[in-house]
Amino acid sequence: MMPILCRSGAVMAQTWDALIVGGGPAGLTAATYLRRYLRSCLVLDDGRSRARYIPESQNCPGFPHGISGTDLLGRMREQARSFGAEFHQGRVSGIVKDGPDFVAMAGDREIRASAILLAIGIRDRLPKVDWIEEAIQCGAVRLCAVCDAFEARDQVIGVYGPLDEIVTHAEFLRAYSSKIVLLPTAASLRPPDGARLDGFAVLPAGGELSFDGEKCAYRAGGKSHVLDTVYPFLGCEPADSLFGDLGLKATDTGELQVDRYLQTNVERVYAIGDVASGLNQISVAVGHAAVAATHLNRELPR
Ligand SMILES: Cc1cc2nc3c(=O)[nH]c(=O)nc-3n(C[C@H](O)[C@H](O)[C@H](O)COP(=O)(O)OP(=O)(O)OC[C@H]3O[C@@H](n4cnc5c(N)ncnc54)[C@H](O)[C@@H]3O)c2cc1C
Repeated sequence: MMPILCRSGAVMAQTWDALIVGGGPAGLTAATYLRRYLRSCLVLDDGRSRARYIPESQNCPGFPHGISGTDLLGRMREQARSFGAEFHQGRVSGIVKDGPDFVAMAGDREIRASAILLAIGIRDRLPKVDWIEEAIQCGAVRLCAVCDAFEARDQVIGVYGPLDEIVTHAEFLRAYSSKIVLLPTAASLRPPDGARLDGFAVLPAGGELSFDGEKCAYRAGGKSHVLDTVYPFLGCEPADSLFGDLGLKATDTGELQVDRYLQTNVERVYAIGDVASGLNQISVAVGHAAVAATHLNRELPR
């Protein structure tokens, strides 16, 4: 193999079979699969997995008594490492195509790989308050109704966001509690056509959320309303815009566009996990990783 010079002048040691950008459940599972296919892979991660917010997941297959997000990530990292996956801490700031390969920039490092797996996840738009992480940790704020509405059964549930967005989420939550309170932000005050507001309490728009260390309250119209838990639905975006450089396409709903093997519109660039799915779940991320890694192994010459 020809030595390759980094910008710093140092020699780049190798061309990896795959560079995995992101060390959440998707990236870590892909690393385990690729190493077990005897492929070289490097995981580059800057440590902001959404899973780190999970106080205790009750729907993660194989953990009947629940598992915290950080514990799960630790186990998945240990598993990938046990098969020889390599890890670097840092942020990939750009990826370009270079002949048959890709070159990624991370700090002053340039990393060459035959394939890229983008497992970069998404970023939630959250209420701009300094207590948000503390409230998530104790379940006063929840971010994923599919994940944990079961645990909020029969509670007073606040649903926070633009009215045209939150009504459909509130309808989903209606199955879990009859005490649903809509907390509209000022952004939009009209429910979508055909939406049913009956059965929901609707508080005045543009109120203020607060947190007392155990529960949130919503203050509007001179009154404060205490809520057992609050789901903010303020939308999300891909965690990084790396794919801009590569010309990757997105769907109308903002996920990266992929085929059934999770390959994007650029050959040997895969997108897996939350960044490629509207159903943001660990089991989906894990399944994506298995499919993409297996397809890549089949396509990539030895
Ligand atoms: C509060 C909460 C509770 C949840 N509970 C559950 C649950 O009970 N069950 C369930 O199935 N799901 C749950 N989820 C969802 C679950 O966390 C996600 O579906 C899962 O983490 C997605 O995995 P991922 O690997 O796609 O992305 P992530 O886990 O978000 O990992 C992406 C990684 O990529 C890294 N990254 C991004 N850009 C770059 C870059 N340019 N360079 C280097 N690294 C980069 C990030 O730092 C991050 O570490 C929950 C989420 C939240 C927020």
